Amino acid sequence: MRTCYICGSTEQLTKDHTPPKNLFVPPLPTDLITVDCCEKCHKGFSLDDEAFRVFASSVSRSKEGRWIWKHRVMESSFKRSPKLMANVAKHIIPLAVEGPLEHTTAPAMIYPHERANPYLTRITKGLMRYFHPEIDYGRITFQVMQVVPSQGVIDVLGQTLVYDVKGAGVFRFWRGLSMEGKPDSIWVYLFYDSLMFFVQVGEV
Ligand SMILES: [Zn+2]
Repeated sequence: MRTCYICGSTEQLTKDHTPPKNLFVPPLPTDLITVDCCEKCHKGFSLDDEAFRVFASSVSRSKEGRWIWKHRVMESSFKRSPKLMANVAKHIIPLAVEGPLEHTTAPAMIYPHERANPYLTRITKGLMRYFHPEIDYGRITFQVMQVVPSQGVIDVLGQTLVYDVKGAGVFRFWRGLSMEGKPDSIWVYLFYDSLMFFVQVGEV
């Protein structure tokens, strides 16, 4: 039976994109992931989705992210809300990035936990529903960590986890279950080649 991947309802079901489709540049890729979601849950996502897109694209290293920043954030979101712009500026800080030969600093974004956690937990629930519909994630915990992406990290992930990509330069992700049929798993997301999160899933 089809149920909402957030609340379990069977009524007024629609499709939700995982991750949200507002991250992608037009024309939308045809292979985006969707999961069943009720109208009520779906309606509550739009502000979180817009806020995350602002943060993620503000530090983009991919041309897709820069396109979103220019056309969707500067020309749209910030025109509507100067407060949002001020809030973003507060969270951009220079971080030391280790390159193969030198230490450099690049602007990076620390995304506020209270906003990041629900958003990334929702994406993880969506991907779990899509890739492992047999798993009951009603009673599990999601732990979100932001990490600075580097080629070294990406190489290690590739050795142990399953890699996938949706929309070049937009959303890359890695996933790994520790045991078949169990929710315990690790999910890693890289947005616009610049913003990386680990989500660890475990049983209560
Ligand atoms: Zn729902």
